[in-house]
Formats: sequence, C-alpha cells, structure tokens
Amino acid sequence: MIPRRILTINSGSSSIKYSVYQMGDREECLVSGKLDNLQAEPREAAISSLLDELHARKSLDGVTAIGYRIVHGGMRHSEPERLTPELIAELKELAPLAPDHLPDQILAIESFTRHAPELAPVACFDTAFHRTMPRVAQLYGLTRELADQGIVRYGFHGLSYSYLVQELREQNALPARVIIAHLGNGASMAAIRDGVSIDTSMGLTPTGGFLMSTRSGDLDPGVVLHLIRQKKMSPDDVNELVAKKGGLKGLSGIGSDMRVLESKAASHPRAAEAIEVFCYQIRRFLGAYFAVLGGLDLLVFSGGIGENS
Ligand code: ADP
Repeated sequence: MIPRRILTINSGSSSIKYSVYQMGDREECLVSGKLDNLQAEPREAAISSLLDELHARKSLDGVTAIGYRIVHGGMRHSEPERLTPELIAELKELAPLAPDHLPDQILAIESFTRHAPELAPVACFDTAFHRTMPRVAQLYGLTRELADQGIVRYGFHGLSYSYLVQELREQNALPARVIIAHLGNGASMAAIRDGVSIDTSMGLTPTGGFLMSTRSGDLDPGVVLHLIRQKKMSPDDVNELVAKKGGLKGLSGIGSDMRVLESKAASHPRAAEAIEVFCYQIRRFLGAYFAVLGGLDLLVFSGGIGENS
C-alpha cells in the first residue's frame, strides 16, 4: 500500500533537508526545511528536536513512512526498499564506497528510527536509476577481479533523473533519446534511452564526471599518483582536494557558488575561466552522449545552475 503522507529526508555531511508530502495524483509539499551546521551540533539531538517540533506543529499527523535519500545502494539495489536491520548492516558494508555521505546517512536513519519507530523507514537509492546501464558502460578498464568486487561505475543523482523521467512520461513528453544535465553543487549528466539510463558521468563515487562546485570530476589516474608520490599528499589530502577544494572553487580561487562567479566574471578572469571550463566539460559529455544515443531528441537541464543559469 502506498502511504498517503510521507516524510522525506535528504541528509548530507553538514545538513539534513526534510519535507512532508501529501501523496495523490500530484504530490503536494506540506512542510519543508533544513537542519544546518550538523558538524557542530550533534545529529541525534538535532533530529530529536526536529521531530518534537514537527509533532508540536501537527506536521506529522497522518505520516506513516519516511523516505530516505541514500547515496549508494551498491550492485544489488535497483528499487526503493524497506530499511531492515539486514539492509542497514549491508549499507554499513557499502560505506567505504561513499565515505563522505553514507556514514552520516546511516546515523540519520538510526536516529530517526530510535525517535520515531512508528514511521516505516524506506531507502531510496541515488544509484538505483542507473542499474540499467549496460555492462560496457559500467566497467572500468581495470581487472575482472576488481569489477567482481564492485569496483564499477554506478552513477548518482538517480532520484532526480527518475523524477524527471516520470514527469516527462506523465506529460507525454518523453522521446526515445534524452540527455539530462543535473547541474547543482553536485553535477552530472545521464544518457537516457526509452526512459532508462544507459550511461552517466559519475562513476564509483560522486567525484567523477565533469567538474562541479568543489569536486574535480574525472582525472587521469596518474594525477592522483603524482599528488601522492611527488606532492606527498595523503589519501585524505587528495580526497579533500578532489572533493572539497577543486572544481569551480579551486579554479576560480573565489568560491563555488555559480551566482557569485557569474556576478564577478566580468572583472575576475579566473571566475570567467572557471565557468568556461565547466561549460566546456559539459559540452564534451554532451557530445559523447549524443554519440552513445545515436542522436538526441530532448535535452533537459535541472539543478540550481541548470534551472537558472
Ligand atoms: P544542491 O546540488 O546542493 O542541491 P542546487 O541544485 O540548489 O544545489 O544548486 C546550487 C547551485 O545553483 C549553486 O552553484 C548556485 O549558485 C546555483 N544557482 C542557484 N540559483 C542560480 C541563479 N539564479 N543563477 C545561476 N546559478 C544559480
């Protein structure tokens, strides 16, 4: 049975976004908000007071389930699933594949479940939409043994892509060959044939693909080795660089926010160049997916940059 009212939770490393939806022919958002600064404030306390507040405002009346955005579902999960202790144990095993996101998401699930055990927890995986990718698009040019151990391309932003495909389908506007560019702080692109993902720019982790607000996107593997061997960077240093200090932020030297970069582009050559590199890499992926799809019927932009810029 589909619950009539659900709470949705999208938790990141420093924030948790929440919404309550009334489900129906068109879902309606009743309440939404964001808990910030979770690095400073303990997550457990923040979640407990959020639930108290939502209860006090009667926002949870009629809510029967919580849908969690989960960054990584590994190879085995291609649909939303009820979160059981077994599934949580499996997610803990997957945590090394998404060390910047999954551990915090598991903590959030555990806290919500402790404080609101009456709400059925459901995992919605950001990788699930891409499980339809053909094997040739999933494999890295590494060894078969590593591929068998799950070192393959998964792709992310699947909840955004599947939502957009569903909307296009409902509006009878879903042609055979579609490219969606999801351009937010995290950014990726997907090649979609007949409504299913056949390739996407992110890989084993959300750091891959084209450059983003603070992530580098794809690198020659030799670059990583050079940073470790010649620049004496530790694995954590490299992660900090490719996940948090690179991308638009690293290239512009100004910041990661596209609105700021656009406003400074005329006077700051580095801001202008960072935007140019972002657009150039997107164009390069577009060309690749045009070839993968054998043509293109529809190009969709989403995410804060895609919608507005
Ligand atoms: P997230 O990926 O964190 O959900 P969003 O999808 O909200 O983020 O996208 C955030 C990005 O969108 C930021 O770089 C922001 O500057 C950019 N953005 C938002 N509004 C505009 C706008 N009007 N013009 C250009 N860029 C915008």
